Amino acid sequence: MIRISDVLEVNLSKIQNMLLSSFEGTLYFKQKGFGATPWVRKVGVYHRTRKIKGQAICVSCLKNDPVPYFRQIWRLNFYTDCESCRVKMIQECPVCNSPIVFFRNYIGKFDNLIPRITQCHNCRFDLVKARKERSSVIHLSKQMEISNIYRAGFVNNIQYSALYFDVLRQIMYCFRSVYSNSKLFRQSAYKFLNWEEPESFGSRFSSMEVLPIHEIRRLIYVSKCFLDKLDSVNYSSLQLTGISSSVFRDFDPIPYWFEKNAKRCFYQNPHLKGSG
Ligand SMILES: [Zn+2]
Ligand SMILES: [Zn+2]
Repeated sequence: MIRISDVLEVNLSKIQNMLLSSFEGTLYFKQKGFGATPWVRKVGVYHRTRKIKGQAICVSCLKNDPVPYFRQIWRLNFYTDCESCRVKMIQECPVCNSPIVFFRNYIGKFDNLIPRITQCHNCRFDLVKARKERSSVIHLSKQMEISNIYRAGFVNNIQYSALYFDVLRQIMYCFRSVYSNSKLFRQSAYKFLNWEEPESFGSRFSSMEVLPIHEIRRLIYVSKCFLDKLDSVNYSSLQLTGISSSVFRDFDPIPYWFEKNAKRCFYQNPHLKGSG
């Protein structure tokens, strides 16, 4: 049996680290056999193409690369802005709005014009020429706090980063969901943050990993600010009421570091007294 690592003369663990499955243990604990992988943007694989705009890119990085290549972190949902170039990532061709499918360039092309990896597979527009939009400084600093947790693999006294990411993703879900419990959560949460509640984030709930990047950017920011503030206020100044514990129903058990906060915020619903 010939192994890829032998052919490429690269260490096997180096190749394993290039796979999306290498996020297991850092962003989530166990890869499920079905459904979305938490934090990894879906690309909607269909035969030899991709139907969903889950591949984001930094136009500046690709432009400045001596040999352009696609970073692994560009598939992660919290990574909405490039931290090196301080610009927003894009997830579609600005000319024809196709998803970015770099490997398609090489499939079924029988002419001598070998396309570049940076070209749109559909209209051949060179994506490095796409317009760049600067990141907001306050958003970028929050995002960097999150990616530092991812890189370190742990956070302060929480031990495992996956325990942090589980909670962050659930808070994002609460800010996005249209279920009535989550509406109550949002009202209280914005009040708690002292922010004006924005118009709805969207309509029907779909998986966090297929939402457009501009929506994820807002969700990441508000959810991180919320968690940070929960951490910094004492029990008595907290004004979250009317929130049912069921917003954390997916957890069994609730990650231990968040248990106290979950109980004081989400279980203290006077309307649900005695219901558990
Ligand atoms: Zn970049
Ligand atoms: Zn195009």
